[in-house]
Amino acid sequence: MTAANQTIKSNPIFADQLDRMPVVWIIDKSSHNIEILISILSTQNLQIHTFIDDTFAANTDSFALPNVILITPDTRSIEEYQPWQFLRSSPNLQHIPIIIIVEYCDPIAKTKAFNLGIADYIVKPFHRQEVLNRINHQLLIRSSQNCSQSFQVSAKPESISLQILPSKQCDIDLRKQQLESILNSLDDSVWSIKPDFSAFIYLNNATEKIYGYPNSTFLENPAFWSEVIHPEDRGRVISAHNHLLNIGFVHHEYRIIRPSGEVRWISDRSYLVNDAQGNVVRIDGIIQDITDQKNTQQQLEHNALHDGLTGLPNRNLFMDRVDRALQYSKRHPRYQFALMFIDLDRFKMINDNLGHLVGDQFLQAIAHLLSSCLRSGDTVARLGGDEFTILIDDIESYQEPLVVADRILNKLQQPIEVKKQTISGSASIGIVISTRDHESAADLLHDADIAMYHAKSLGKGRYALFDKEMYEQNLRIVQIDSDLRYALERQELEILYQPIFALRTNQLDSLEALIRWNHPQRGLISPNEFIPIAEETGLIIAIGDWVLSQSCQQMCKWQSQFAKAQSLKINVNLTCHQIREAQLVEKLDRILRETGISGKNLRLEITEATMMDQGEDTILMLEKLRSRGILLSIDDFGQGYSSLSYLHRFPVNSLKIDRSFVEKMSFGGQNLEVVRTIILLAHTLQIAVVAEGVETRQQLALLKEIDCDYAQGYLFSRPLSALDVEKLFLHQA
Ligand code: C2E
Ligand code: MG
Ligand code: MG
Repeated sequence: MTAANQTIKSNPIFADQLDRMPVVWIIDKSSHNIEILISILSTQNLQIHTFIDDTFAANTDSFALPNVILITPDTRSIEEYQPWQFLRSSPNLQHIPIIIIVEYCDPIAKTKAFNLGIADYIVKPFHRQEVLNRINHQLLIRSSQNCSQSFQVSAKPESISLQILPSKQCDIDLRKQQLESILNSLDDSVWSIKPDFSAFIYLNNATEKIYGYPNSTFLENPAFWSEVIHPEDRGRVISAHNHLLNIGFVHHEYRIIRPSGEVRWISDRSYLVNDAQGNVVRIDGIIQDITDQKNTQQQLEHNALHDGLTGLPNRNLFMDRVDRALQYSKRHPRYQFALMFIDLDRFKMINDNLGHLVGDQFLQAIAHLLSSCLRSGDTVARLGGDEFTILIDDIESYQEPLVVADRILNKLQQPIEVKKQTISGSASIGIVISTRDHESAADLLHDADIAMYHAKSLGKGRYALFDKEMYEQNLRIVQIDSDLRYALERQELEILYQPIFALRTNQLDSLEALIRWNHPQRGLISPNEFIPIAEETGLIIAIGDWVLSQSCQQMCKWQSQFAKAQSLKINVNLTCHQIREAQLVEKLDRILRETGISGKNLRLEITEATMMDQGEDTILMLEKLRSRGILLSIDDFGQGYSSLSYLHRFPVNSLKIDRSFVEKMSFGGQNLEVVRTIILLAHTLQIAVVAEGVETRQQLALLKEIDCDYAQGYLFSRPLSALDVEKLFLHQA
């Protein structure tokens, strides 16, 4: 249906009564509004004319004069709005009641319009019954002013009919009855009171339903309306009502208490009614019960500030509370609080192995456990994933949060039962105490996070209190990280090569590529310092690629220069990130192809710790590398794990016994026996053994005695530059 200047004669049965049918004009820019209004009104015996507002004034003469006009005004410039001016200046139209259509909760529009003399308003989104009631109301008033006709649109949807009352029946009592029945069919309370609030003039039935008190209570004691207001809202409601006499309209929301003690939210709109001389004759109002709407709104607000899984405050609410605590501490220097950052250890493993459902319930159990460790004024929140935070309010000493952290770690040691699975939890906790230096909540959270990482690096399942040293260490990490990004292109990285010798033949077997970073300001930085940082940021891939291709190129060059280098191997270290890279096999194929060295001249060193963390897919990938002839070695073997029983799982050719073992070896000592056992087992699995960090002749003698295959260490050579390696070839030749 197009909605431009059309006449809808609804219900053709009454076509012969057209001249007596009430006429409604709808003036609106929005064809959508017009369509909805027509769909509501077309079931009624009404003559409806619709106008798109800018075509309205030119067409008015062609249509029957209206009994009521519905218009959506431009509320920003309502006085200058053209259709509005026309309605107000046209002698035929200026006395026709106007009902405006306003957006929900737009008191300004309504107040403006009331000042300009509108009869009523309809709130969008349209509520069918409201539209019918309000039009009906105006038609009734109009018919009582002009007793030649009386008509009414039925207020009850099920009995929609139009009554045309002959003028002789136009009796005031009957109209009053009709009005009364409409008002009593409403769910909203409609009331009217004397301007001095001394007596109610009218109350409809819905008032009893909303307030739970009989209307007689209000009629007998008009001040009672203010007594049922919730004590926390009473002051502002009364003061708003006192302003009513100045501003003419008030719309506010507040709570009332029913006789049962139940609290309900209501929306109260009150208007001053003036007589022709401008004297206030009464105050009218409409009260709507909006408890359900408020509850939904409160639920939405709660959801915006809480974590859906655990019901704990979320990051937004937590940060807001920390911010408030921080502001308070600025005004009260003796007030201090602590912030804890808690990260569950090995949560990913629980989630991956036992399923997300168990993971979720475990997090809920942790939320409960953390809450049970705190006082009521403290806040525990879930930031996301397995990260929780705690705000410990008003602490007397720095020991207080440590006691809480201990309590949490102790409780976590007790197994948690989730879906018939017993899970033992563990967490790393970072703690920071508020200081004058903290500018924002984010600052505090950052420090607690640093402390948490520190606790994790110390071996998990513990707490660490943030201190200045940690801050400086973190600063150094951040600086190294940012400088490292440019180290490759500025050519600050260099590779040294450390020889590895075969103990039975004293021949050079291989060279281990070891990276060096010559930092322009800080000097030489150890790979032990920057490789873990590169691993964390992912920069290791670019650096690792560079090391691989550089050392393979170098190897190729040596092979072309020295006959001895034909059987030599180049050992390259790979980190966890690198071996998990999807394209590693293709990458190595390409490097071997481009540099022209054979797979059997390349040995990859992977630490035992990294190897232990891998799944079946990595092992399959390693087997692919083996099938290309590439050699694999376990680095730093024995450092903390001693996973002899796992050794057969890994498709490796050799293992490097960690320097710490070699260091502690002595004749008849326990360590010597451990190394001997490792060598024996490795040999039964056809795995060759390399000893790292050999510094003394005594260590060398012991290693030879227990049948170690290869050795590397300062005793033979420090890591050498490529040039020094060439000298070594020449010297050996
Ligand atoms: P790593 O692979 O276990 O390398 C052996 C480390 O022990 C080297 O330290 C080497 O200089 C040192 N070393 C060798 N012989 C002796 C000795 O007799 N006494 C002592 N005290 N130390 C000895 P560096 O070069 O500082 O490298 C440290 C670690 O950094 C390496 O341990 C390796 O894990 C890592 N790394 C070095 N270069 C690379 C690289 O290019 N890529 C990767 N991913 N990691 C690398
Ligand atoms: Mg190594
Ligand atoms: Mg090593």
